[in-house]
Amino acid sequence: MAGRLCDARPMRKYVIMGVQGSGKGTQAAMLAVGLDLVNIGVGDILRWNVQNHTKLGAQVRRTMAAGELVGDDLVEGIVRDRLTQHDWNYGFIIDGFPRNERQAEFFLESYDIDGVIYLDLPDSEVRRRVMARRLCAGCGMDYNLINNSPREAGRCDACGGELVTREDDTEEALAVRLREYHGKTDPVLDIFRRKEYVVTIDARPPKEQVQQAVRARLGLPAYHPPQQVAQQAAG
Ligand code: AMP
Repeated sequence: MAGRLCDARPMRKYVIMGVQGSGKGTQAAMLAVGLDLVNIGVGDILRWNVQNHTKLGAQVRRTMAAGELVGDDLVEGIVRDRLTQHDWNYGFIIDGFPRNERQAEFFLESYDIDGVIYLDLPDSEVRRRVMARRLCAGCGMDYNLINNSPREAGRCDACGGELVTREDDTEEALAVRLREYHGKTDPVLDIFRRKEYVVTIDARPPKEQVQQAVRARLGLPAYHPPQQVAQQAAG
């Protein structure tokens, strides 16, 4: 407790945006671990509900599988509930929200944010990445068969669970999601840009390089890969 009181680390609140497959989840997790941020993935929360057959999961399953956005009231409720838990002592990073102008207004009315990270990726690259994406049915870990394959084909390195394709990672659903994204989410970026919150990062390089760029642009401490951190601690 005393340690916490002496800890002068600032609180940081970020939004991460980018088209499907741009690496939002990966980059959010890398930033969250390093800075002790609570990582809130709205799509992850929805998928957890679908996988666990909750009432909410039943409500959103078809919409998600088709690549469409689920209702604003429902999503805003999820974000509000998650953020009222107040377990985010050092801040949060939120991925997958806001996705349209109404959600952006709701968010800006309720929370002040320190920055919006926009991961920029051309649609052609999105298609290539999304079709190679796999998800562990057990623990939800993400894989990409282009540059992040599991050690054993079809099995999760962390929990041994089966790797599956996301129900919305199909050509049809991807086309809908790209249309939704450019039609509804691009305007959100314009709102944030007017408030000068946005840092635009090229999402094509390897994930470590993208993470370094994110941190440099936000004036944050440099990224150290887990191995390097372990070596520093030992030495
Ligand atoms: P994601 O994991 O961010 O790609 O989200 C997967 C799916 O969850 C989306 O295609 C939507 O169906 C739904 N979803 C996630 N975030 C939102 C949001 N902010 N508003 C509406 N639907 C969302």
